[in-house]
This record gives sequence, structure tokens and C-alpha cells, in this order.
Amino acid sequence: MIPRRALIVGRQHYAHALSTRASTILSAVGIPAESELPGVYHGEWVGSGDVLESVCPTTGEVLARVRSASPQELQTALGKSREAYTWFRMLPAPKRGEILRQIREALAAKRDELGALVSLEMGKIKTEGTGEVQEFIDIADYAVGLSRMMNGRVVASERPGHSILEVPNPLGVIAVLSAFNFPVAVYGWNLALSFAAGNATLWKPSPSTPLCSIAVTKIISGVLENNGVPGAVAGLVTGGKDVGEAVIESKDVDMVSFTGSEAVGRQVGKVVQSRFGKVLLELGGNNAAIIMPDADLDLAVPAVFFGAVGTAGQRCTTTRRLYLHRHIAPAFIERLQKLYSSIRPGDPLEQGTLLGPLHTRAAVGIYSGAVDRLRKEGAQILSGGSSYQGLAKPLDGGNFVMPTIAVPKSVNIKDAVWSQETFAPVLCVGVFDELEQAIAWNNGVPQGLSSSLWTRDLRNVGKWIGPAGSDAGIVNVNVGTSGAEIGAAFGGNKSTGWGRESGGDAWKEYVRWGACTINFSDEAPLAQGVQFSSTA
Ligand code: NAD
Repeated sequence: MIPRRALIVGRQHYAHALSTRASTILSAVGIPAESELPGVYHGEWVGSGDVLESVCPTTGEVLARVRSASPQELQTALGKSREAYTWFRMLPAPKRGEILRQIREALAAKRDELGALVSLEMGKIKTEGTGEVQEFIDIADYAVGLSRMMNGRVVASERPGHSILEVPNPLGVIAVLSAFNFPVAVYGWNLALSFAAGNATLWKPSPSTPLCSIAVTKIISGVLENNGVPGAVAGLVTGGKDVGEAVIESKDVDMVSFTGSEAVGRQVGKVVQSRFGKVLLELGGNNAAIIMPDADLDLAVPAVFFGAVGTAGQRCTTTRRLYLHRHIAPAFIERLQKLYSSIRPGDPLEQGTLLGPLHTRAAVGIYSGAVDRLRKEGAQILSGGSSYQGLAKPLDGGNFVMPTIAVPKSVNIKDAVWSQETFAPVLCVGVFDELEQAIAWNNGVPQGLSSSLWTRDLRNVGKWIGPAGSDAGIVNVNVGTSGAEIGAAFGGNKSTGWGRESGGDAWKEYVRWGACTINFSDEAPLAQGVQFSSTA
């Protein structure tokens, strides 16, 4: 048997000719094509662990090989993150905000180039790739403002001459473990808040999108360097499951912000809880759209189309379940099928393409498994139902599948076809008579990320957003399930993990709160009038 080490050393001399399509994009973001790239940053770039391959989902071309973090490099990165935190926490928040503003500018200057890289490496269409970078820019703007507004408060004390303050302070080292499908924005949401709050952030991206994380980290590290800030304030450790596990187990990590599947999130939650660390979970979604008979179908049909087919069904907020009122069901389905039949797979980098590939070969298997199961259980397949065969070069090397509409025999919400997230463009349709029934179906699954009601009747809106309404974290009206803005806190309930990131009050997760009671008086009374004076 060849020792693994030898295999890795052998790969060090790896060089390959990249397509022009890929090399243009990589060189625009400063990623050299000819050698293995170091995948760890903690003030300097290193990397001698396992090799990660970045594979283009559209063509199957290997874009680059990246050296992930060895166990020793990971420990060094963790140590440097902690050192960086002890320095950074003393920098006044508005000064941190000013550096964040420069990061925002640096990202904006490379918006299109980074957007193209997201499209190349993840496979989403370019406008969505660029949109993802824009999301990072937006949250950076937001956090620059926050850096002057992360206020605590003064609370009235029941004791004379006392004041109570609630004081936010930097929390420590925040590890961000992210999923493949938002290889830039999820980190952006976390970094911007964590940075403004005075923490060091250590990023463990998806092992299949290392190039996005390297390009983003290069941009940020340039700004940090210009400002004399230790690079480990925004560190990077690429790697797979092993690196992820070591990060979440580390007592040097004060909070783990994890975005990924429910299965992995369940383990991450347990591990971090067991060491009493703080954990923020953003897990799978199984999102429903409900269409009432009074809905404006001119708006609802395209929104469901985008929700179900956009990003080839690989958003956590993708529309996976469609509940149609009996009165409009045939008309809605007819119009939706027409849109589905118009879609063509294409290079996501080319303007006009709406359908890119799935991210990996494994995802094609998951898609096929889900469609097989639907067929076996007697579902009607109205559109799609298989992967694309015989595409022209270079798309023949890609992971293209047909967006699928299925009508299962019944809406038994406990069945796997309804209750599990299939991370692919498979939309299941059910027909209802009463809104209450549709809300029960919406709420009857383990996940609780996004949901959407289409109606013009204010009474329906009241039901939907009220106590007996949708139990998801995102409760939209006449807006699809996917495509959130950064201003509100983003996240889901139940098995989606209860985490909140981005806007709203999410920043409060990234600080440690101290309740400080201060006595300015010459007495020392106890709260609630408790007497404890000794007579001696
Ligand atoms: P995944 O769970 O396979 O991986 C997520 C991250 O966890 C990766 O960085 C991976 O390397 C790491 N990891 C894997 N095993 C680990 C372990 N045992 N310990 C620590 N880390 C480990 O998810 P994925 O396939 O990359 O992403 C798709 C999933 O993410 C979908 O379920 C999707 O809904 C979800 N997602 C959720 C949100 C949200 O905000 N709710 C956003 C994007 C994606």
C-alpha cells in the first residue's frame, strides 16, 4: 500500500492546464492556477494537511487543489485567533467599524470578479453569485453603522443610589462553519457582526468551495494589513469533517456559528453544548408556499418558479412544497408547467442562463433517489424527473438535473417526501380547501425556515402572521420563500436550529452581556428587602 503522505507529497508537483473560462476568473481574483494553494490563513498563509479539490460543477474540470489545515496548523490558527482577539477587543468599536468600511469597499471593488468565482465554483448563475457578494457588502454597511450603535442599557434599580447597566463586550473567538451553497454570503453575515462586535473570527468553509474562501480572505487580509490589524482577526482553516470537528470541540472557540444540514447540525449542537460553548445553528429548510384563490397569479406563479428552480433548488429557502387552493390549482399548475418547460440548462456564467448544475455528483444521486421514491409511492411527475443526458461539451461533464414538479398521492405530512429536505429542484404539490388545513401542512414538518402565503385578503394575512399562523422563522406574504434581505434577522425555528444571523437583533448573539449593578450610595441594601445583618 502507498502511504498517504507519499500520495500527498506526489501531488505537490501537480500542474494542469485550465480552460480559459476558469483561468480568466481565477486570475481576476488573484488565485494562481499552476500549483497547490495554501488553505490556511492566520496572519500568514500555510497549509500542509489533506488536499481538497475544487471541482467546477458545470464542467467537471478541476479548478485547483488546496492544502487544508493539518491538526498542528489548526491549533496554531486557534491560538493566533485568541491572541488576535485580545488585541482587537481593545480597539474602540467605531474604529473597528472604519476598518469594516474599508473591507466593504475592497469587496465592492471586486464584486463582479468574486461573483463570477462563486458562479464558477458553486454553480449558481452569475447574477446570483454577484448578489451573494452584494449581500456581504450590504451587511458590512449595516455593521459599520452598528459599530456606533451596539448599545447596552441602563435599568432602573429598586435600591436607592444604585444603577444597573447591561453591558455588551466582545465575546471571543467565533468559528464560522459554512455550507457550500452560499460560499460567500453566510461568512459575510457572520464576519461583519462579529468584527464590529470586537471578536476574532475563524472560518471553516465547505470543503468543496475553498477558492471562494481563499479569495475573500485575501481581500480582507489586505485591508487588515493596511491597518496594522493582526490577520488572525479574520482567519481561515479549510478542511473537511475532521477539521470541522476539531474546531467545534476546541475550548478556544467561544461561539460556533454553524450553517449546514440538520444531520450535521444536530451533532455540532451536541458537541458545543457539551462543553457549554455558545452555538448558533442555521440548518435545513423545507419551505412551503400557499396559494389562496384570491392570489394574484401573475405574481405568484413566477415567484414559485424562482423559489423552486432558482439556484437549481439549492437554497436553504428554496420552495419545496406548494399548497394550492382547489379553485386555482389547475390554472396555477398549467402556468407553472409552462415556465418549467421553457427552462434550459446552461453555463451559469453566461447571461440568460436560469438553470445551472447541482453542486456535486453526489447531489445528482440524492435528486434521483428522491424522484425514484416519489414514483414508487405513486406520485404523478408533471415536469422533469431525470437528469439531463447528452448535453454538448463542456456541459456534458456537469451535474445538470431537470427541475421536477411532483404531485404525491396525498398530503401525508409525516411521509419522507413531504417531511425531509431534498437539496435539489424537486417541488411537491398538494391541494387544499381551507387555509387552516394549508397552515397545518406548512407547520407539520420538522423544519421551520421559510414560508410564503399568496392572498389579497387581509383576514388571511392576520391568520398567517399571528399565533395560529406559520411557525417558520420567515413568514412572507405575496413574496416567495427565497431571497431575503439583510435588514431583518435571518433564521429558522424547530429543526432549522433557532439561530438568527444578519440584521435585526442578531448582533446581540456576538457579544457577551454583563449585568452590572453599581452602588453609588453609603448603604449596601440587599435586593427584595432581604435582611442579613448579624447582631454580633
Ligand atoms: P453540511 O452539513 O454537509 O456541511 C456544512 C459544514 O459542516 C461544512 O463546512 C462541512 O465541512 C462541515 N462538517 C461536516 N461534518 C461535520 C462535523 N461532523 N463536525 C463539524 N463540521 C462538519 O451541509 P452542506 O451540504 O454544505 O449544505 C447544505 C445544507 O445547508 C442544506 O441542508 C441547507 O438547507 C443548509 N443551509 C442552511 C442555511 C440556513 O441559513 N438555514 C443556509 C445555507 C445552507
